[in-house]
Amino acid sequence: VRPFQLLQAESPLDAISKLSEHENAVVLGGGTNLIDLMKEDVERPEVLVDVERLDLSSIEDLPSGGLRLGATASNAETARDSRVRSRYPLLREAILSAASPQLRNMATNAGNLMQRTRCYYFYDTQTPCNKRSPGSGCAAVDGFNRIHAILGTSEKCIATHPSDMCVALAALEATVQVRGPEGERPLSLLDFHRLPGEEPEKDHRLASDELVWAIDLPPEGFADHSHYLKVRDRESYAFALVSVAAALRFSGSLIEEARVCLGGVAHKPWKARDVEAALVGREPSESLFEQASELSVKEARGFGHNDFKIKLAPRAITEALMRAWKGTQS
Ligand SMILES: Cc1cc2nc3c(=O)[nH]c(=O)nc-3n(C[C@H](O)[C@H](O)[C@H](O)COP(=O)(O)OP(=O)(O)OC[C@H]3O[C@@H](n4cnc5c(N)ncnc54)[C@H](O)[C@@H]3O)c2cc1C
Ligand code: SF4
Repeated sequence: VRPFQLLQAESPLDAISKLSEHENAVVLGGGTNLIDLMKEDVERPEVLVDVERLDLSSIEDLPSGGLRLGATASNAETARDSRVRSRYPLLREAILSAASPQLRNMATNAGNLMQRTRCYYFYDTQTPCNKRSPGSGCAAVDGFNRIHAILGTSEKCIATHPSDMCVALAALEATVQVRGPEGERPLSLLDFHRLPGEEPEKDHRLASDELVWAIDLPPEGFADHSHYLKVRDRESYAFALVSVAAALRFSGSLIEEARVCLGGVAHKPWKARDVEAALVGREPSESLFEQASELSVKEARGFGHNDFKIKLAPRAITEALMRAWKGTQS
């Protein structure tokens, strides 16, 4: 049994000072990932700073025309919001594809961003894992790696980021609002998570005394032509093997803007920039989508059990683009 302290934050500033004052303190959101990790002895915080009582759960229109999602708003509340439903259906689809209704009621938006990988070896303290125990090795590289990454991997770690919501947020190019002892700073969602490189223990660019307090969506939500496609082993309650957030904007019969982001393939939501560039200015067609989507895996590397993702990812992109082209299903 490892004792820990549970501290209630009375304000965002109070949360930040509690995080700064204690060496091994972390924020507690809905607890759906953190508490599991503590039970498995993977994470061993000495202090939990509970932010539930803070006034960070609202969803508000921004003067720019975008929408601000509070850090402690639940995934369920966010998907239910009428503005998310009508202006950002891609985000709603991604959220609703995740976990279960009970979990989405508990899970917060910030906790979803910050959730940790589902690599089996990360959860198994009897096996080497550079993310859990830096320098111990990576059991997945030569182990069972069916759910692991094919893009942006390093010799140190081939884990994927598990969030569905973040794939849609990356496609929408959302901004994470962060607050720390030095004040506030915006971080692009695309830069928020890291690739593993030499330091796979670091999932993201948030400092240990910083708090996520909101996520801002830009005005453009691609409401008419977007689709979130999630390929998984079961139709519910399963993480993505490969997922795609696809969004298109047209000018007449031509694609004016394309957004394609992959989940389940990398340590962070993976923006398929080459695919996007190959679509812009072109007439949509299945053959264009097929050709463009192949660009997403030109630098992919499989590790044995996950080789199938190299074929699956372009097919999933093509299908997601086809559905986005046809028009968003409400
Ligand atoms: C059985 C099961 C199935 C699931 N399936 C899916 C799925 O298919 N797709 C998917 O995307 N997710 C899935 N999830 C994961 C789920 O979405 C996450 O557990 C949830 O989003 C985490 O949110 P939370 O508020 O509970 O975070 P917590 O567990 O409270 O915290 C998670 C991390 O976020 C940090 N944190 C929380 N709030 C803040 C903040 N404001 N600022 C800084 N750091 C913060 C915590 O310190 C911790 O490191 C599943 C989970 C379970 C248990
Ligand atoms: S892939 Fe990453 S998380 Fe999984 S065992 Fe290797 S180092 Fe650990």
